Amino acid sequence: MKKIALIAHDKKKSELLAWVLVNKAELSQHQLIATGTTGQLIAKESGLQVQLVESGPYGGDIQIGAEMVENKINALIFFWDPLEPQPHDPDVKALLRVSVLKNIPTASNRATADLLIHSQFFN
Ligand code: PGA
Repeated sequence: MKKIALIAHDKKKSELLAWVLVNKAELSQHQLIATGTTGQLIAKESGLQVQLVESGPYGGDIQIGAEMVENKINALIFFWDPLEPQPHDPDVKALLRVSVLKNIPTASNRATADLLIHSQFFN
């Protein structure tokens, strides 16, 4: 069982939800953690159990980053929005920096998320 972090910026939430629904069976075998709004949406629409942290702009990205520092996260699916400035951009940067630092498989779009979840290396 892996711990997978799920985060999507507002205009990317529907895309992440669609990806989660397609991969629900696989994801149900893992532990899920998500930023507040993303996680609530996923839990409500998919019925999957999701550990919630704060909403991203209120520190949720930092909380997930801290779990990465402690080696508690095995993969990051983070659909960030390349077209919208974010009030918590420093937090987003910190999260992405830590994901590279800790060598955590990270997907920023659906194509990469598909490759990641179906990879023979994932399990
Ligand atoms: P949210 O946070 O899931 O609470 O919207 C995502 C983010 O903006 O990092």
